[in-house]
Amino acid sequence: MNMDDFIKKAETVLTPNYRRQPVMFVRGKGAKLWDSAGKEYLDFVAGIAAVNLGHCHPKVTEAIRAQSEKLIHISNHYYIEPQIELAEALAKNSILDQVFFCNSGAEANEAGLKLARRWSREKGKGGFEIISTWNSFHGRTFGSLSATGQEKFWKSFEPLVPGFKFVEFGNPAQFQNAVSQSTCAVILECVQGEGGVWPAPKGYLEQVRKICDQNQMLLILDEVQTAMGRLGKLFGYEWAGVKPDVITMAKALGNGIPIGAMLAKKEIAEVLVPGTHASTFGGNPLSTAAALATLQVTLQEKLPERAKEVGEYFHSRLDQLSEGHQCVKQIRAVGLMLAAEMKIEKCERVIDRMRDRGFILNLTQGKVLRFLPPLIVEKEEIDRMLEALDSELGKLDSEAQ
Ligand SMILES: *Cc1c(COP(=O)(O)O)cnc(C)c1O
Repeated sequence: MNMDDFIKKAETVLTPNYRRQPVMFVRGKGAKLWDSAGKEYLDFVAGIAAVNLGHCHPKVTEAIRAQSEKLIHISNHYYIEPQIELAEALAKNSILDQVFFCNSGAEANEAGLKLARRWSREKGKGGFEIISTWNSFHGRTFGSLSATGQEKFWKSFEPLVPGFKFVEFGNPAQFQNAVSQSTCAVILECVQGEGGVWPAPKGYLEQVRKICDQNQMLLILDEVQTAMGRLGKLFGYEWAGVKPDVITMAKALGNGIPIGAMLAKKEIAEVLVPGTHASTFGGNPLSTAAALATLQVTLQEKLPERAKEVGEYFHSRLDQLSEGHQCVKQIRAVGLMLAAEMKIEKCERVIDRMRDRGFILNLTQGKVLRFLPPLIVEKEEIDRMLEALDSELGKLDSEAQ
């Protein structure tokens, strides 16, 4: 079947909720991808910050193969060896103690939001209100959608879950004002990702932490996109210099195998007694074996350190490039999460032209080119991509006058 036939069939049988690009990738290795016609690409999206070790990392593939020959799925009514090993490794490498496993970022956030309400009630404060920030992204399920501070995602789905309040990201005074007797938690990203790569301003998260401590509230850090080395540290909270009570993670945890996790301190997690929360597939043998291998490779190969070093190189090259172009408004970057905000709306054509040249990029908010390469990306690969981007941005400059 040729590409046009695939597209026609897809439009018949798939719900139309994605704007798909006319390409079908059939193979990947490291930062490279190949489409159904055999054309090679360099991947600066990594399945949206998921495939941090690069495509089909041999150690993850081997872990999946070996586990799939032993036991793929059982239930959380029983003990699961790789799940326990993974939880131990996550606890050992973080400041959190206990882990709940699920299958996605939205689900990890659901678990964090439910934990916060139950914790506040069990500890006698009885708070239910959760503060979130404008421009945030926390997922598409009703709870995580209700925590997402972007009205465009709510449209036609209201009423949302009650009890969410929004404040400006980076503004501690507004946050302080939003706190009331009924507040039980705040949920935040340390770098707003989908919102356009906006790092928390210096000192902001420390202030948020202090206000949480003074008001018996939990600080939930949504690390769905930032955990597993993306920001140059294993966890984003290490970059941000703040100690959260709860963190949620998903995207890169299984290097592409669906898995999410919520990590919490023991004295908070203990309110999740049997029957309070659950997931059929969460933490199953296959996904946890893949995630355990992913975490081991991340630590052994010092990928967070690599993300920091290569990210700084990428950032400085991107700064240089932007100086020569009228159409670039601002460069923002932490580790290997980088963005070039354009002065022009609707930049899909840049993504399309770069793809034609063999480079896969992402666009968020219509005008923010987002770079999320696998953490194993080579400097030479970054150079090649930027050379192509340089020439494409040249075509936009006249429009930005
Ligand atoms: C992607 C993302 C989510 C949602 O994760 P899903 O796995 O798509 O449900 C939540 N929060 C952040 C910060 C994300 O980047």
